[in-house]
Amino acid sequence: MPDLIRLLPDSVANQIAAGEVIQRPASAVKEMLENAVDAGASNIKLIVKDAGRTLIQVTDNGSGMSVTDARMSFERHATSKIREANDLFAIRTLGFRGEALASIAAIAQVELKTRKQDEELGTYILIEGSKVKSQEPVSCPAGTSLQVKNLFYNVPARRNFLKSDVVEFRHVMEEFQRVAMVHPEIELSLFHNDKPVFQLSKANLRQRIVHIFGNSINEKLLPVEMKTEQILISGYIGKPETARKTRGEQYFFANARFIRYPYLHHAVEQAFDELIPDSAFPSYFLFIEVDPATIDVNIHPTKTEVKFQHEQLIYGSVRSAVKHALGMFSLAPTLDFNTEPGFDFPVPKGYEPKPPTITIDPDYNPFNRESRQFQKPSDGLNANRGQWEKIFEVVAPRGEIQQTSPTSTIFSRHEKNQPEPSDSGKIHDSFPGFKLLQVQNRFIVANVKSGLLIVDQQKAHERILFERINTMMESEQGLQQRSLFPQNIHLSPVDCEIIREIASDLINLGFEISELGGGTFIVNATPASLPVSETGSFIEGLLEDYKKDKSDLGTDRKTRLAKILARNMAVRAGKSLQPEEMQTIIDELFGCKVPEVAPDGSRILKILVSSEIEKILH
Ligand code: ADP
Ligand code: MG
Repeated sequence: MPDLIRLLPDSVANQIAAGEVIQRPASAVKEMLENAVDAGASNIKLIVKDAGRTLIQVTDNGSGMSVTDARMSFERHATSKIREANDLFAIRTLGFRGEALASIAAIAQVELKTRKQDEELGTYILIEGSKVKSQEPVSCPAGTSLQVKNLFYNVPARRNFLKSDVVEFRHVMEEFQRVAMVHPEIELSLFHNDKPVFQLSKANLRQRIVHIFGNSINEKLLPVEMKTEQILISGYIGKPETARKTRGEQYFFANARFIRYPYLHHAVEQAFDELIPDSAFPSYFLFIEVDPATIDVNIHPTKTEVKFQHEQLIYGSVRSAVKHALGMFSLAPTLDFNTEPGFDFPVPKGYEPKPPTITIDPDYNPFNRESRQFQKPSDGLNANRGQWEKIFEVVAPRGEIQQTSPTSTIFSRHEKNQPEPSDSGKIHDSFPGFKLLQVQNRFIVANVKSGLLIVDQQKAHERILFERINTMMESEQGLQQRSLFPQNIHLSPVDCEIIREIASDLINLGFEISELGGGTFIVNATPASLPVSETGSFIEGLLEDYKKDKSDLGTDRKTRLAKILARNMAVRAGKSLQPEEMQTIIDELFGCKVPEVAPDGSRILKILVSSEIEKILH
């Protein structure tokens, strides 16, 4: 039998690698702009035609390249920026792998003109699909001009995959803006189909942001500045009242490159927590500087996803930097929730508790997923689904696990009389079945596309309940069960104060409590999810936690209450879960706005990628 294994020709290998680095015109724009910045340019011009499909040209006045370098720059793993693997961790700038130009040249027609400042003649190179078609000396300005024509001309699948020009050009602008924000000291311009889109002169950061986003943003910016031994945070945040209903300007930069970091995004949200409604998004432009050796930038080929070694520390720093900025402008007091202090319970004179006449289905359970169809899902509740679905691209084939009835007891301590699900598996269908395993009655583990997903069951459930409770308080849609025999509770004066303070929120959640005087309260109704027998101990626990958390002044009352409720109601570590209960937790968790972080800021989940598993094992 003949041998079957063959080495792929370089051009094919490059094309495959290109797929990782260059997904769309904007990816090429990003690489080209970054190269111009790295070359020390003080002026960079970006020209784009048809959203980058037919032409992307970047002209800079940077260092330029020698003849040899010009030719070398298109080789894979050709870079002037690192010499050995260790350099990867030492360089200030992020993730050089010498792949960008090789990738671009594999999938486009590329013309390079470059001249070093101190040389008379420059170099012209024409490459198509990794093949050098022509190379000759040329007279040209100092610096580099790179033209990328007909991107993906030889990869029709990619070309067809591109979105409309409007969408693609939006991505291009986004990349341009990111670079522009990191380098206000560089003069930058962008032309699309011969029309100027941005012409940014040299500026400071604030001016640059204003040049990009318009004059009106100027008065909305609050400066952020924090410095410790390990970390420097600077930049601007938008004043809370300018928070947008749609995700607006949210930018993190780590050591001068744009990054995505949902965990840190949460830190900012936390800092803003009490100041903007849940449905609004804060704006921020935050620059984080840390020792480059403590960032792993290689976890994603396009380098926007990085991993900080001291993630918790950075989380805390970002949060307090933002809080400090907000505090400096003493916005907090003016924006408190408008719930009236000292809310009085409506206690009719001579009130005598008697069995209520209206009875609401006592088994109705808002925390039960079957009941959720009656609730308005909160904005963005499912916003994360799409993203997570990618991770969950099935490892176990669809339907491999039996679709079990979604009736779940964990969202209620009611074990009896659960309503029978009418259309079982409805929610399951949104996530294809994958095997879930409970470890030590604490963690849910699943085999997902990118590795091994580990979820802390208690933290996950806290997050789910926290978001749901928030929604309920916001929309005042807590569902009640009336008790046949209202309960008396006796409270200390301090506790009475607290109950009065949180009364309106308790009502929104479904409580109905009246004050009789002398420290006695009567609970006439409780949230449908709470077993009546547990009302007393639940309220005690709630008050206890509330007192403990009182020092946590950074968080507003509603959020604090939601956290406490979630903590008290969540399934504990140590509880053994049925497969369908685990499935419910996973489904619901990834429908949450912030599936990664528990209300107390701790981590809920982690995906161990194979390299990490390798590290653990060997
Ligand atoms: P990397 O940026 O990771 O080193 P690239 O493929 O983007 O890899 O670029 C390869 C090399 O080409 C760079 O290391 C640099 O030496 C050179 N180069 C690319 N673009 C420019 C430019 N605009 N000006 C000067 N040198 C450049
Ligand atoms: Mg580069």
